[in-house]
Amino acid sequence: MKIKHIAIIGCTGSIGTQALEVVAANPDYFKVEVLVANSNADLLIQQALATQPNAVVIADESKYKQVKAALLPHDIKVFAGSKAVEQIVEMESIDIVLAAIVGYAGLASTLNAIRHKKTIALANKETLVVAGDLVTRLALENGVNIYPVDSEHSAIFQCLTGEWENSIEKIYLTASGGPFRGKTRADLAEVTKLQALKHPNWSMGAKITIDSATLMNKGLEVIEAKWLFHLKPEQIDVIVHPQSIVHSLVQFTDGSIKAQMGLPDMKLPIHYAFTYPYRIPTPFPRFNFFNYPQLTFEAPDLQTFTNLALAYEALKKGGNAPCIINAANEMAVDAFLNDTIKFLQIAEVIETCLAKATFIAQPNYEQYIASDADTRELAKQIINERYHSRTSN
Ligand code: NAD
Ligand code: MG
Repeated sequence: MKIKHIAIIGCTGSIGTQALEVVAANPDYFKVEVLVANSNADLLIQQALATQPNAVVIADESKYKQVKAALLPHDIKVFAGSKAVEQIVEMESIDIVLAAIVGYAGLASTLNAIRHKKTIALANKETLVVAGDLVTRLALENGVNIYPVDSEHSAIFQCLTGEWENSIEKIYLTASGGPFRGKTRADLAEVTKLQALKHPNWSMGAKITIDSATLMNKGLEVIEAKWLFHLKPEQIDVIVHPQSIVHSLVQFTDGSIKAQMGLPDMKLPIHYAFTYPYRIPTPFPRFNFFNYPQLTFEAPDLQTFTNLALAYEALKKGGNAPCIINAANEMAVDAFLNDTIKFLQIAEVIETCLAKATFIAQPNYEQYIASDADTRELAKQIINERYHSRTSN
């Protein structure tokens, strides 16, 4: 395998820092070309000094001077601002763009990377949820491969390797069930953000950890799977698997099922997205069967975790419906993390937005952007009128 020059977009986050561990574990195969962070200047500087990239971008312009001063003596180019985040992916020397920004904010840089024919390692699932048709069409037009980093989708992708001619009957996405598996709605009414942020198996950024607790993460992943693997909604099933060892499964038309297994460790799917179609040695911990004598599976509870049902509804509706639930979810999760709304109200905000926001069957790019902005405004209104005024009275 030739050395891969990698741009890590969202380098200071959970995926970004693990990607840097992947790179450090195999310096003969990977080189950091670009690092992009939102506002954590100290960590960005530290990472840049350790990896000596060609360039870095800090989205928060107020941190530009600090980063520039630290990296200038090392001949590392420094840029700032959201336009620079979008443009940096055009750099000639980049082979792979790891899209690891969280949320809708990751869309523009990924689209631009595709336009410039960069291979995409996609962690930012929201990109496909918001505008899956545009993103996949653009990738096809530009002959660009999008390799999944999300562990479930990497599992499906690994099961499909060598099976490209064969049809999929269905896929099973596994879900850990999150910290509230087995709880009733009454149990969930008063759960705190600290409880919601305690994921049993994975250590991740705050937004995706809350999404895992509400099962919206699985809902977003169902939509992500549709676009990555060209599936119909009825071909995508979710099963709860609390041990998070079977990362997902594919059932082929002859009834055979292939699964991909391993420890819950994002370094492996990140690594595979960088090395596909090859497998090269890694020093990461290995699975031991005797530590997991039982692997169990159960149905998801859609009555308690209504977000998963809402995501399926949006998927079936199509058009901008997934974009609407994504924007509503980002606003609601933010409000929950800021103690403005309660846990069960996250799903209420999303449900109301899906019912009220203007539906567009075949949106273009501008309409997706408008739909995202309008839904955010609507969600803000709902949160202020329905919940915030009540809690502040
Ligand atoms: P995180 O919050 O830990 O990190 C987000 C990163 O994006 C940070 O480096 C931050 O600086 C950067 N960022 C945020 N907004 C930005 C902006 N506007 N401009 C530039 N940079 C910006 O999030 P995470 O947990 O690493 O998740 C990243 C993405 O990967 C999400 O879409 C998530 O759903 C997906 N994902 C994460 C995991 C995981 O284990 N963490 C697993 C599967 C998928
Ligand atoms: Mg996942």
